[in-house]
Amino acid sequence: MDRRSALKALGILTGTVTLQACAGKRVTQAVPTPPSQPSVLKLPKVNVQADREIRTVVGLRPFRPSGFVVRPQKLDDKLVVHNYGHGGGGVTLSWGTGELACRNVDQTGEKNVAVLGCGAVGLATARLLQERGCSVTIYAKDLPPNTTSNIAGAQWFPYYVFDSGHTTPAFMQQFVEAAHLANRRFQIMVGSRYGIHWLPNYWLGEQPIPNAGLLGANSPLNDLVAEKHYLAPSENPFPFPVALQFDTMLIEPNRYLPAVMDDFRIAGGQIQVQEFKSIAELQNLPQRVIVNCTGLGAKALFNDEELTPVKGQLTILLPQAEIDYCTLAEELYMFPRTDGILLGGTHEEGVWSLEPNLEAKQRIVTGQAKLFAAMK
Ligand SMILES: Cc1cc2nc3c(=O)[nH]c(=O)nc-3n(C[C@H](O)[C@H](O)[C@H](O)COP(=O)(O)OP(=O)(O)OC[C@H]3O[C@@H](n4cnc5c(N)ncnc54)[C@H](O)[C@@H]3O)c2cc1C
Repeated sequence: MDRRSALKALGILTGTVTLQACAGKRVTQAVPTPPSQPSVLKLPKVNVQADREIRTVVGLRPFRPSGFVVRPQKLDDKLVVHNYGHGGGGVTLSWGTGELACRNVDQTGEKNVAVLGCGAVGLATARLLQERGCSVTIYAKDLPPNTTSNIAGAQWFPYYVFDSGHTTPAFMQQFVEAAHLANRRFQIMVGSRYGIHWLPNYWLGEQPIPNAGLLGANSPLNDLVAEKHYLAPSENPFPFPVALQFDTMLIEPNRYLPAVMDDFRIAGGQIQVQEFKSIAELQNLPQRVIVNCTGLGAKALFNDEELTPVKGQLTILLPQAEIDYCTLAEELYMFPRTDGILLGGTHEEGVWSLEPNLEAKQRIVTGQAKLFAAMK
C-alpha cells in the first residue's frame, strides 16, 4: 500500500466535520480532500563560506583497478598474508577483509603474529587476531593521526574500491562478504566512544542510479543500506531532479582510530614504530606469520605495479551541530562530523602529491555553496 492509500485507509484524506448551522440545525459536510503530496523535507542548510574553512587536507587512496588483495604468500620461512589496496573504502571494509585475512592465519595455527601497518585495516586486523587469542605486534612507519585512514571521510560505504570490468568473480565474492562482515562489526561499535553514528544520505543526480551500480536496484549490498528510497518530487529540497535517500554509518576517524588503538593496547598488543624498506628486512622479525596492511606502502615494499594512489582532498568548515545528513552530488560530497563539515571530492588517479590542489578546492567550495544556496 502506498502512502496515499495508507492515509486513505486511515480516513485521513476524506474526513467529515460537523458544523453548527445558524438555524441551530446540525449539518454534516464533506471536507475537500487536501493534496496528498508529502511536503518538502525540512533540512538545515550547510553554511558554505570561504571564511568558515578551518583546514584543507589531502590523502592518497591505495587503489587497485582489480580490487584489494587478501591472500597468503610464502616468503622463505615466513608466511605473509596480504590485506591491502582498499581504494576509497578501506575504513568501510577494514573489519571484513581483516576477518578474511585472519582465516589464512588460522590455518597456520600460529599464535604470535606481526601486523604491518597501523591504519584502519591494520588495527581492525590486529584486534581480530587478538580476539582469536593471538599475541600481536603492530609494526608501522606512521601511527594515527598520521595515516591515510585519518584523512578518510569516513562514510560506511565501499565506494571507489575497484573498476568494474577489471575484477574477477572470486574477488567480487570476497568483496561482498567483506562488506557484510564489516558492516555488522561497525554496527556494534556505534556510539560516541568510537565516533560512529547513523545518518541519512542523499545521493543527488539528474537520472536515477543504474540498476547495476552499488547503490542500484540489483546491488549485492542492498541489505546493507537501510531505508533506501527515492524522494518524491514534492519532498525533494535539493536542486537536482533525483534524490535517493539511504541510511548508513559515519565513522569519525580521529575518534575511532585512537579508540581502537586503546582496545589493542588494553588487550596486550605492542606497537613498534619501524619502516621496512625491503621484504628482506621482514626476515628479521621474530614472528613467522606477518599480515601486510601497509596500504599504498605495499606498492614499493611488495612491488605491486597495479597499486596506484588516487589523491583525495577535503576542505573542512567549522562544525555545524544541526547538520544531520550527508549529501553526495556528482563530484561533490558533504559529511557532517563533530570536528567539522567535510566538503569533498576529488579523485586524481596516479597523483602522488600531498599538496592541496587550489583549483579543486575552489571548484568544491563554489559548487557546495551553490548547492546549499539553491536548497529549498
Ligand atoms: C579524501 C579521502 C576520503 C576518503 N573517504 C573514505 C570514506 O568515506 N570511507 C572509507 O571507507 N574510506 C575512505 N577513504 C579511503 C581510506 O582512507 C583508505 O582506504 C584507508 O585509509 C586505507 O587504510 P589502510 O590501513 O590500508 O592504509 P593507511 O591508513 O595508509 O595505513 C597504512 C599503514 O602502513 C604503514 N606503512 C606503509 N608502508 C610501510 C612500510 N614500508 N613500513 C612500515 N609501515 C608502513 C603506514 O605507516 C600506516 O601505518 C578516503 C580516503 C581519502 C584520501
